[in-house]
Amino acid sequence: MPPTHPTPHAIAGMITRLNDPQYSRWAAQLRATGGCRQPIHMRGRVLHVDRATGRLLHSYTTTGEPDGVLRLPCKTRRASRCPSCAEVYRADTYQLIRAGLVGGKGVPASVTAHPCLFVTLTAPSFGAVHTRREKNGKVQPCHARRDAETCPHGHVMSCMARHGDNEACLGEPLCPDCYDYSGSVLFNALAPQLWKYVTDALRRRVAKTAGLTLRELRQHLTISFAKVAEYQKRGVVHFHAVIRLDGPDGPTSPPPAWATAEMLTHAVQHAVKAVTATVPAAGDDPSRVLRWGRQLDIREITMDGELSDQAVAGYIAKYATKAAECVGTLDRRINPLDDLQAFNLRDHPRRLIAECLRLGELDELADLRLAQWAHMLGFRGHFSTRSRYYSTTMGSIRDERRDFARTEEITTGRLPLFDEDTVLVIVSWEYAGKGFSVGDALLVSALTGIPLAAPPDFGGDVDESA
Ligand SMILES: [Zn+2]
Ligand SMILES: [Zn+2]
Ligand SMILES: [Zn+2]
Repeated sequence: MPPTHPTPHAIAGMITRLNDPQYSRWAAQLRATGGCRQPIHMRGRVLHVDRATGRLLHSYTTTGEPDGVLRLPCKTRRASRCPSCAEVYRADTYQLIRAGLVGGKGVPASVTAHPCLFVTLTAPSFGAVHTRREKNGKVQPCHARRDAETCPHGHVMSCMARHGDNEACLGEPLCPDCYDYSGSVLFNALAPQLWKYVTDALRRRVAKTAGLTLRELRQHLTISFAKVAEYQKRGVVHFHAVIRLDGPDGPTSPPPAWATAEMLTHAVQHAVKAVTATVPAAGDDPSRVLRWGRQLDIREITMDGELSDQAVAGYIAKYATKAAECVGTLDRRINPLDDLQAFNLRDHPRRLIAECLRLGELDELADLRLAQWAHMLGFRGHFSTRSRYYSTTMGSIRDERRDFARTEEITTGRLPLFDEDTVLVIVSWEYAGKGFSVGDALLVSALTGIPLAAPPDFGGDVDESA
C-alpha cells in the first residue's frame, strides 16, 4: 500500500482536526489505543443502574466524543497491518507460552519438572530452491552439484552462488516449471489436519508404550500442546510446538514416573513418521498422499539447559505475529477475478496463489477452500493454538489487561467504583468504521513520524487472532 501523500484534501482535514475544540480528547483516544494504526470506531453507551432502586448511577455515551465515536485498538495479530497491536499480541502470546513452561498465570511453578519438548515439524521438498547455508560461519554455495542434470525446461539443476541474507531469490525454485506448486499449497491446506493426526497418534503411541488403553491413559496422563505456524521462505508452513506431559488434571498434577522426556521423544518421532493425509483425485490431478518432511527437530526444554523456557516463549511469540506476507504474498483476501499480474508480486508467490485459485475451482477439493485462502498460500489454520490444559488463555490475559484499564479509569475518577453485584450494567455498542480519514492519517504520521498506510479497504478478511 502506498503511503498517504499530502493532498490538499488531506491537509485541509488535518487543519480542521487541529482546530477542533475536541482535539485533546481525540489525541487522548488515540493514545489509549496504544498507537493503533487502524483503530476501530464504536458508537454506543454504557449505563450503570442501581439494581435495588433503579437509579441511574453513571452513564457514558459516545455522543460527546470527537466524531461521536470511541476509538479502540484493532487488536490484529499481524505486524504488517498494525505494528503496535501486533506487539501487544506478541507479548500476550509470550506470557501464555511462558506460563506453560515455568508457571504463572494460574499454572503452578511445579510444571517446570514436567517433561517438555520443543519440536519443529517441517514440510517435505517440492523441488530444489535457492538457499543460504552457513557452515562454521562461512556461507556455502547454494546448490553445488557436479554433473548436475539439466531439467526438461533447460535449467541446470545447480547454483554455485553464495547468497546474501536478504536476496529475493531465497526460497524460489531453481526451475519454477519443475516445482510442485500443487504439492506446496495442498500441504499448507492439510497441515492443520496432519498436526491433529500427530497429536492423536502421539496419544496412542504413549498409551501403547505404557501398556494402557487410550481411556486408561487419561487417568494417568495428559499431553498438552502449544504450537505456532511459521512460513518458510519457499511459502510452505512449518510448525513449532511445545509438547508437555502432565498428570491427569493438567499442569497442576505431576505425570507418572514412566512418562519421561526420552519416552516422549521416541513417541513424537514415531507419530510424525506414521501420519499421512490423502488428497482425493480431482480434475486431471491424481490422488496424492501428503506427509511431514524428513527434517524433524526435537529438543528438550529445561530450566538450565541450552534451550531455555525464555528462548522458546520468545520464538513462539515472534512467529505468532508473522503471516504469509513475509514470503511476498498479499496480506488480504484475493478475489478470483483479480488480475494477479497487477499485484506486482514475484513469480513464485504469484504461482502459489494461482495454483490455489486453480485447485479452488475443483469440486473434489471444495472443503479446502483454497481460493479463499489463496493469499495465505493455502493455509487456513490458526497461527497459534494450544490444547485445553496448556496454560491460561488469550482471553483471560486480555481480561486481565482490561480489568487493569478499568481500575485505572476508576482511580482517575472517570468511572465511579461500584459493587458489581448491586449494579446493573447496560451496554450497547455498534461498529461505526475503522482506520483514519486522510486528514487524520496525515496528522498522526506527522505526530508519530510513522508513515501511515492509506485508509484500509474492507476486503472481508478474517483475522483468526482470537
Ligand atoms: Zn491496531
Ligand atoms: Zn541459488
Ligand atoms: Zn524444469
